[in-house]
Parts: sequence; structure tokens; C-alpha cells
Amino acid sequence: MQPFYTEQQTMLATTVREFAAEKLAPRADEVDTLEEFPIDQFRGLAELGLTGMTIPEEFGGSGGGYRDFMVVLEEVAAACGSTSTVLITHVSLGSQTINQAGSDEQRQRWLPSLASGQKIAAFALTEAGTGSDALALETSLTRAKSAEGKDEYILNGSKLFCTNGAVADVFSVFTNHDRAAGHRGVTAVVVEKGTPGFTVNPQHGKMGMKGCATAELVFDDCRIPVGNRLGEEGEGYRIALKILDSSRIMIAAQCLGLAKGALEAALSYAKQRETFGRVLATRQAIQFMLADMATELDAARLLTYRAAALYDEGLPHGKESAMAKLYASEAAGRIASKALQIHGGVGYFKPSVVERIYRDQRVTEIYEGTSEIQRLVISRALIGDI
Ligand SMILES: Cc1cc2nc3c(=O)[nH]c(=O)nc-3n(C[C@H](O)[C@H](O)[C@H](O)COP(=O)(O)OP(=O)(O)OC[C@H]3O[C@@H](n4cnc5c(N)ncnc54)[C@H](O)[C@@H]3O)c2cc1C
Repeated sequence: MQPFYTEQQTMLATTVREFAAEKLAPRADEVDTLEEFPIDQFRGLAELGLTGMTIPEEFGGSGGGYRDFMVVLEEVAAACGSTSTVLITHVSLGSQTINQAGSDEQRQRWLPSLASGQKIAAFALTEAGTGSDALALETSLTRAKSAEGKDEYILNGSKLFCTNGAVADVFSVFTNHDRAAGHRGVTAVVVEKGTPGFTVNPQHGKMGMKGCATAELVFDDCRIPVGNRLGEEGEGYRIALKILDSSRIMIAAQCLGLAKGALEAALSYAKQRETFGRVLATRQAIQFMLADMATELDAARLLTYRAAALYDEGLPHGKESAMAKLYASEAAGRIASKALQIHGGVGYFKPSVVERIYRDQRVTEIYEGTSEIQRLVISRALIGDI
């Protein structure tokens, strides 16, 4: 176990690892093949108290920090990548947006049922015309009056690639109320499943993370109360960047799990597969691959822990979270590739664990800011204004 984990975190890791080995790992291949959202697995995570981990106790959560959640995600992702994506999106994107940007009344309204796992959260920023450049949002938000004279907003537009979208109940949606106003034109609102004018279309055909219930969201004259706005009009861009700054630490934690799953599979295979009369693990070429994989995994874990600690202590963490996500995701890619290589041909075929991890890992270099965007964040922090 890691020397910098508290006794409680070590116990948490053991509990989650046992749950993951019993409930998640045996079904990971089925989840991938059927492209099905593991709803019963989500309920299992909820029973362990993991769906409300970073929600304050007064709003039904367990008030844990990101160092605790990091420990959980590593174990969940090592067993099933899709389930870890579902959990991250629910906790550190969807629920945290409401927790960080909502009023106490809004937090009381939505967070308890999200923390208990009774409801599922999603986060909708990306559109067909924009992913990296959040200022180019086209989903519009206009003020209106209801038939009873109440203040409302009308949403029009659509969102793509929304994780959990096909099954979520509560969506944090980023809209544009004034395109000419740049970042001051972006406003965040909550839209609930079943709101008239709001349609969800499941999206299939992903390369990996196939069980994470991706969907397109369509808003067609969708009316919501003004009371569903998070923060003030024009604060949405700041809210989105702040959430992504912290949530990408959890993508780094997910990458630790994917890398660990790949390393463990490679180690086990190298110790039992014989070629030319000896097991692979006796060959220096294989030993050096394993040594590099373990070293990169530990380096990624240290970067992730530092970013999570800064976040938990309320200190600036933007550069460090970008570094953790950049390094951990790309390291997980190298580790998954080496693990597949060590497996030879059998690693290239389903239902090999390394084949699935190799595909699941790829999106970690894309979502919550691509590697190029992480490099932009890091270099801007280094260079400053020039
Ligand atoms: C499986 C999956 C799940 C997702 N889940 C969600 C979700 O739940 N909610 C959500 O809102 N979004 C989600 N996304 C969207 C994801 O966050 C975006 O795909 C990502 O931010 C990249 O945006 P884009 O696809 O529009 O690529 P683009 O922004 O079009 O970028 C294309 C390429 O150009 C590069 N690039 C862009 N701008 C620059 C620049 N200035 N300098 C250098 N290079 C640049 C990028 O790095 C990339 O390589 C998900 C995506 C996937 C694939």
C-alpha cells in the first residue's frame, strides 16, 4: 500500500478492491460487449456510500476529499473502466457542479438524492461545433414568462457525447445567453429528465468505455424555472473551468486504475507463459518493460496525489491537475500498450483484459480536456502573460 495514504484510505482501498473483484471485474467484459450501463453496479457503489463521497454531510454525502475519491477510483477503474467513468461523471462533474455553484436551496433540492445514488447526474458542455473551445457554445438560453407569469428560461440547441446522458436524472447544462458577450455570455443551468422539450438520444459505437451511457441531448423550446440557474447569468464559463480543473484530477486517478489493471494482467501472464522453455518473466526484455510500467504508474500516482492534496487543502491546483491528467493518461496509454505486447496475439483478442483496457484508456487523453489542452494550461501557467 502507499505510504502517504492514511490508515482510513488504506482500509477504503481494501473495501473497494474486494467489492470490485467480486462485483465489477467479472462483468466488465459483458458491460463492454453489450454497451450497457451497469446500473446494478452503480447501486452497489451507492450502498458502499461512494456515490456521495465528496458531497458535504449536510447534503447527504460523506464529506470525503479528493484524496479519498482518488483511492476509490483507482480500484474501480482497475476492475471496470466504464463503471469508473460513470462514477466520476456522477460525482466529480454532475454533482460537484451543483455543490460548488448552487445555492443552499439548490443543493438541498438535488444533492441528497444524487449522494444516495437514487438519482444519477450528468454534465453537458460539449456540442457538435465545440469541445475544447467552450466559448463557442450555441445552445441558447432566453428569458420568458410562463402562462402563470413566472420567470422562466427557454433552451434551444443540442449537446453531444454526454456521459451518463442516457440514464441520468439531473443534468448540469452550459448554455449561451449572449453570444456577443464572450465568456460573460455563458450560463449554467440544471435540467431535469422528463422536462417537456428535452429529449435524450443514446449514442453508440464508441471505441472503449462502452458502458458509460453516452447520449446526445436535444433542447427544443425546453422551459425551465429561473430558479434552476446555477450562479449568476454569465458565470457559467468560470463554473465549467473550475469544475474541469478539479474533475480532471479524478480522470488521472481513473488512469491509475486502468494502468494498474494492465500491469497486474501483464505480470500474471509473464509469470505463466512459456516460450523457448522458460517463462516470459525470466527475459530481460520483458522485465524491463514491467519495470518501466511500474515506475510510470508510481510517478503518475504521485502527481495525482499532489493535485488532489492541493484541491483538498483549498490551494491553487490548475497547473498541477493538468499535469496529473496529462501524465497519467499518456502513461496509462504506454502501460496498456506494453501490457498488450507482453500478451502477444492473445492480448489482441477479446475477451482479453488488456485488449479492453487498451481501448478504454484512449479516451482519457481526450475527455475533460485533450492532452493538447492540458499542455496549453500548463504552459500558460509557466509562461504567464506575454
Ligand atoms: C467517450 C466520451 C465521453 C465524453 N463525455 C462528455 C461529457 O460527459 N460531457 C461533456 O460535456 N463532454 C464530454 N465529452 C466531450 C469531450 O470533452 C470532448 O470531446 C473534448 O473536450 C474534445 O473536444 P472536441 O471533441 O470537440 O475536439 P476539438 O476541440 O475539435 O479538438 C480536435 C483536436 O484539436 C486539438 N486542439 C483543439 N484546440 C487546440 C488548440 N488551441 N491548440 C492545439 N490543439 C488544439 C485537440 O486537442 C484535438 O486533438 C466526451 C467525449 C468522449 C469521447
